[in-house]
Amino acid sequence: MKNGVVIIGAGHAGVQAAASLREEGYDGPVTLVGDENELPYHKPPLSKTFIKDPAAQPQMLRAEIFYTNNHIDLRLGASVERIDLSARRLELAGGATLPFDAAILATGSRPRELKLAGAELAGVLSLRSVADARAIRELSGAIEDVVILGGGFIGLEIAATLRLGGPNVTVVEAQDRLLGRAVAPAISAHVRQRLEAMGIRVLTQTTIERLEGVNGHVSAALNSHGERLPAQMVIVGIGVVPNVELAQAAGLTLSNGVRVDGQLRSSQPEILAIGDVANYRHLFSGTDVRLESVQNATDHARLAARTIMGHDGHYDSVPWFWSDIGDMKLQMVGLAGASDSTVVVGDVADNKFSVYHYFGTRLIAIESVNRPADHMLGRKMLGAGFSPRAETVAAGADALKAALAEAQKEAAA
Ligand code: ADP
Repeated sequence: MKNGVVIIGAGHAGVQAAASLREEGYDGPVTLVGDENELPYHKPPLSKTFIKDPAAQPQMLRAEIFYTNNHIDLRLGASVERIDLSARRLELAGGATLPFDAAILATGSRPRELKLAGAELAGVLSLRSVADARAIRELSGAIEDVVILGGGFIGLEIAATLRLGGPNVTVVEAQDRLLGRAVAPAISAHVRQRLEAMGIRVLTQTTIERLEGVNGHVSAALNSHGERLPAQMVIVGIGVVPNVELAQAAGLTLSNGVRVDGQLRSSQPEILAIGDVANYRHLFSGTDVRLESVQNATDHARLAARTIMGHDGHYDSVPWFWSDIGDMKLQMVGLAGASDSTVVVGDVADNKFSVYHYFGTRLIAIESVNRPADHMLGRKMLGAGFSPRAETVAAGADALKAALAEAQKEAAA
């Protein structure tokens, strides 16, 4: 008997996995289990439009009818408590069980918790779910001062969005620059300058020592230089941790996430892991990565469906990512970790430039600010394994396109 596929987690990865199974022609039962009560929704808008527009609704990933039409058994508000490997079934909170032939872990990640005095006060929030976004939206209309802990993408997107609504915003970042984990120093410096021009206060090499409250609600944050920052809301954006608990209890191999092979199979071959929770050797960089992006989630999902259908394949998508911070559209393609030289094109003062990262003569990543054409061409170049010379990059888009076409012609010959 076919018990089918169960997918744990109904975010971008889980929903795409269910859709891809049907697109690939899988005809057994598909069950998608999610612990939120909302119809699965897009996460990127939450830190952008959603928190400033009181009327904004979550944007559904798929209309409700999609699940019915595709015979996807969507179980909302359901939480998986245990994977019983020997019986090949899931145990749900409340006692129900779900048998499976294959399971896909798409459990994602959660905000890293802040461990300091006052973290439990009302008004100390983080952003992951639409419920979190609603809480931030409600409170932000009623306050004057916000402290944002963490100068990563989440923190800065929220900082810029909230600032437009009026409150005083202070970003507190432990490292010596913003977005240090993600982008080149030139971009960090530019982002900082633009945020400061919006009236946002940016404190680097600074942490928070403790939070103070009045009547159980946060009122101030004491920073590591002894300054008391007024704050009726504190948003914690200090990174995420993968949700590995189910995998761990089932005895799957972990390594900063659930370790998977090139077909996205965990150490237990009938259990796959995809999206934020999956750690794998990326063909593109040759390093082990755990990526937190919509692209990684949905491309993983497509490959996982193919793996379950018995197709060969190896995950080799070029990673890309974007972020909107105030008037900056940041787009990243590739992995810049090994970068040993850069070429900058465009006009920093005009808020439009790109940083091309090289490892030796190999192009490994491009980071763009308001230069979407560079990003799109970059995806093509990296996808084709093409590394233009620095002079060609400096010569501009037409020269790059011609060089790429030439290289592709040669490769085809
Ligand atoms: P996200 O994508 O969730 O924003 P990142 O890891 O890109 O996550 O960014 C988190 C940022 O928070 C990093 O720049 C990191 O240096 C910073 N950070 C981590 N812990 C602290 C802390 N205790 N105080 C201030 N900043 C912190």
